[in-house]
Amino acid sequence: MRKTISFLTLLLMMAWLTGCCLAHDWKEANCEEPKTCKICGETEGEALGHVWLDATCNLAKTCEVCGKTEGDPLGHDWREATCQKLKTCAVCGATEGDYADHVWIAASCLRPKHCEICGVTEGTTLNHTWVAASYDSSRYCSVCGVVQGDELTPAFEKRNYEFTLQKGTSWEYSTIANADDKAVSATATITDYRKYKSDSAHAALDGYEWREVTVEFKSATGIKVMFGYTDTYAGLEEYPYSNYITYSNGTKLGVLADEEFRYEWQDDETCISYGNLAVRVPEDYEDLVFYVCSADYANTQRIDPNIKFMEMK
Ligand SMILES: [Zn+2]
Ligand SMILES: [Zn+2]
Ligand SMILES: [Zn+2]
Ligand SMILES: [Zn+2]
Ligand SMILES: [Zn+2]
Repeated sequence: MRKTISFLTLLLMMAWLTGCCLAHDWKEANCEEPKTCKICGETEGEALGHVWLDATCNLAKTCEVCGKTEGDPLGHDWREATCQKLKTCAVCGATEGDYADHVWIAASCLRPKHCEICGVTEGTTLNHTWVAASYDSSRYCSVCGVVQGDELTPAFEKRNYEFTLQKGTSWEYSTIANADDKAVSATATITDYRKYKSDSAHAALDGYEWREVTVEFKSATGIKVMFGYTDTYAGLEEYPYSNYITYSNGTKLGVLADEEFRYEWQDDETCISYGNLAVRVPEDYEDLVFYVCSADYANTQRIDPNIKFMEMK
């Protein structure tokens, strides 16, 4: 027995001294360790090194061989959902959740209500927002600009008024003044009435002329007077409080007009108010009627019972 132990010890010592097993028992190299003898620990060559696969949305950087990981997964690079596409990862194509609602753009005269993204429509287009034709422009849509038809032909309706006001005509004018409705009497006088093609403040238009009236009011207090024009004086009930001319097709529309008003105190007891109105009408138009009334009535939507109409030929 002692002899056997001594012999084995001798063998082991020899092996150690010569640095070699009688037969190595090799373990193959792997990612991190070289080929190694399980008995004596001797190595050969180098470790193989990991075979890394790049990190993805879901997985960290991983060794294909040993499964070792490093760092974290990248996470998805989400693109928000639209009405056409689910929330989607731009890298791996993964999806999540539901489609988004349409992004609606309100209807206009050009397009029905529609989705900005996919173009799906709902309902119909809106009507155009027409600005009526006048004697110097066709009817057009204020939203899309589409033009329809022609300018109005200013063949204004003809009437037979019996009075024609002239320069120098005077009348007693009783009305109210100011918000307190105080009664005022004035002497009104047409101080000027003229027709002209154009001047520095009033542009010319072929076939048209300007007609301009100036009225002076002399009173014991300042009065605010409103000037206007019309072609349909048929009594106070029809007094429109708005300026228009009636065209041959029945359209009622304003024409180009320019109003001015001011007043001056002569002394403590006398105030002179001046009003002026210029209107551009066709040269042969016979039905223009100017009017004057209390602005204090007009501003409170009342009819001035003493409104004065003046036909101007
Ligand atoms: Zn060995
Ligand atoms: Zn590995
Ligand atoms: Zn992804
Ligand atoms: Zn859509
Ligand atoms: Zn339109």
